[in-house]
Amino acid sequence: MVVGESGLGKSTLINSLFLTDLYSGRTQPSADEKIMRTVSIGKKTVDIQEKGVRLKLTLVDTPGFGDALDNTESFYPILDYIDQQFEQYRMDEMGMHRTQIRDQRVHCCLYFISPYGHGLKPLDVECMRQLQDKVNIIPVIAKADCLTPAELRHKKDLIRCEIDHYQIKTFQFADCDSDDDSEWVKQDSDMKSSIPFAVVGSTTVVRDSMRNINVRVRPYPWGMVEVENPAHSDLVHLRSMLVRTHMQDLKEKTNDQLYEQYRISCM
Ligand code: GDP
Repeated sequence: MVVGESGLGKSTLINSLFLTDLYSGRTQPSADEKIMRTVSIGKKTVDIQEKGVRLKLTLVDTPGFGDALDNTESFYPILDYIDQQFEQYRMDEMGMHRTQIRDQRVHCCLYFISPYGHGLKPLDVECMRQLQDKVNIIPVIAKADCLTPAELRHKKDLIRCEIDHYQIKTFQFADCDSDDDSEWVKQDSDMKSSIPFAVVGSTTVVRDSMRNINVRVRPYPWGMVEVENPAHSDLVHLRSMLVRTHMQDLKEKTNDQLYEQYRISCM
């Protein structure tokens, strides 16, 4: 699931992460429409191949979040949606075909933080607090190409401090075992030090004739930002964590803790 104010690049990032074009033909509401708008939930399915394994992911978008003049109720449709998926799963577990349940629970929420503000906004704090006991939250700094490396380091430190200060529960990455191989330990430490992931998205693909590959870039008058270049963006760490290294952890935490809490609250 992606959550964050409109215009922070959520749909562009989804397209960049999964190399798709899921949002073609999307129209933007006018300012008048936005004022009256409530948050809606959009669902799309994408098939991806990861190291030869085919994965079917459901992407849940939350258009309209943060658009209204008064956003105090922005997160209720999101909470309702997560609860509905828990409830569906609970019903299926009690049904006749328990072994064939289609798991539609939300296993991860990418929470988009604006690169322009000074850290978290009150809406971010409140929304993450409301979501924290229902879904694994992974904070990301949107449009990281708007920040210089020094600004980005400062913003990451600030956001980490604020998350601690407001006691927001984000997804906790498990520590490596002492006997893990050194390459994995290095990869894991690079990934953890990137949090909150600073991401850049783009739908522009150009041919890199030197390397003979296609690359997604944001072209600027002074040069190119490559969305998959770790020196420019944490997108590669984020993708690897989501679909390779931590997918199982996200699913287990959802099942063993978040769904379990929901199930107990229903008793
Ligand atoms: P959404 O409303 O959150 O889904 O945002 P969109 O994906 O529609 O993007 C809104 C605008 O931001 C578009 O003009 C995008 O081209 C631009 N945009 C998207 N990602 C980035 C990014 O990483 N950096 C910059 N500078 N602009 C971006």
